[in-house]
Amino acid sequence: MIPSILPTYNRTPLSFERGEGSWLVTGDGTRYLDLGAGIAVNVLGHGHPALVGALTAQAQKVWHLSNLYEIPEQQRLADLLVAATFADTAFFTNSGTEACELAVKMARKYWHAKGSPERTDILTFDGSFHGRSSAAIAASGAEKMVKGFGPLLPGFVHLPWGDMAALKDALTPTTGAILIEPIQGEGGIRPLADADLRAIRALCDETGTLLILDEVQCGMGRTGRLFAHEFAGIAPDIMMLAKGIGGGFPLGAVLATEDAAASMVAGTHGSTYGGNPLACAVGAAVMGIVADPEFLSGVSRKAGAFRQKLEGLVAAHPDVFEEVRGAGLMLGLKCKLPCGEVVQAGFAEHLLTVPAADNVVRLLPALTISEEELAEAVARLDRAAARVSAPAEAES
Ligand SMILES: *Cc1c(COP(=O)(O)O)cnc(C)c1O
Repeated sequence: MIPSILPTYNRTPLSFERGEGSWLVTGDGTRYLDLGAGIAVNVLGHGHPALVGALTAQAQKVWHLSNLYEIPEQQRLADLLVAATFADTAFFTNSGTEACELAVKMARKYWHAKGSPERTDILTFDGSFHGRSSAAIAASGAEKMVKGFGPLLPGFVHLPWGDMAALKDALTPTTGAILIEPIQGEGGIRPLADADLRAIRALCDETGTLLILDEVQCGMGRTGRLFAHEFAGIAPDIMMLAKGIGGGFPLGAVLATEDAAASMVAGTHGSTYGGNPLACAVGAAVMGIVADPEFLSGVSRKAGAFRQKLEGLVAAHPDVFEEVRGAGLMLGLKCKLPCGEVVQAGFAEHLLTVPAADNVVRLLPALTISEEELAEAVARLDRAAARVSAPAEAES
């Protein structure tokens, strides 16, 4: 019999009643150190007073208005994002998937309005993840996401990750945009070299191609910069955001330059809930904390010490781990044993991590995690690694 929840997830039999900072607590009071943060969502941890305050204060005023009216909280968040980034304008969604939908629509409308309606192709990359809508799965092209869901939205050209020669060859007169994650998340914490991102920007400039960056997972301070593309010193034309921007409240956004967004006039796109007052009040509170340069340098400092300890962990367990990769507090442990075994062993040590493709265990803690908690996480990872490499020893 089909369960009352559509069984599209492989859930771990763990149930949490409340969260406190970087800790999740079960009904019987057992505390788990959370290095998943809802898959890079809870950037300020669980129950951050500024976010609880913003949400409850807004809840007392008005929950939902509709974009038929002006929404001051939405205006405030848009102004904060525009002031802090390359962007001239923002559209708010409820998820990363919806941000992908608009990014794709915006790119196509752009070329239609420019008198080059043939430039509908969007170049994307192996291992990418952009969401679960028909457009987003077509963009990724991964077999496990698209199989059986055809016919797929046409116009996506899938390229090998990190192969700049293939990318150059793939640019044709029908190419309208390149869509890429500066650091692949679901794909296994695979960072694009800064030089490659700069080369992609240069190719876009030469050909007029729009650069769409998906910073849904790597953005919002996770790397120690507000956005990951800042390391390369370039800017996109369009950027997708979600996950961290709402700190746990459903919120996403598309940011764009004035030129890229020029054709998106009244009536071309919309959303009932997108940019609602509750989500935007929380988003503005997140931005108020995360966009602060001092907060970001704190993230980098903590991340540096954490990474050093993780390098030691890899060296201590050469039979379990291959390498540490990623940036800031978006890190992956490439495993030699199946990564799911390491994640399971982590549960036994009351440590939450997230598996990814390419046999990688993802470490995506709240950006507010303390150095002591990060050291504790490494100690738990060390015990988890001992469990999988020598189970008899660990149990004796
Ligand atoms: C999670 C994710 C998405 C999709 O976001 P949803 O909110 O789950 O729709 C898109 N792109 C990237 C890079 C992601 O990590």
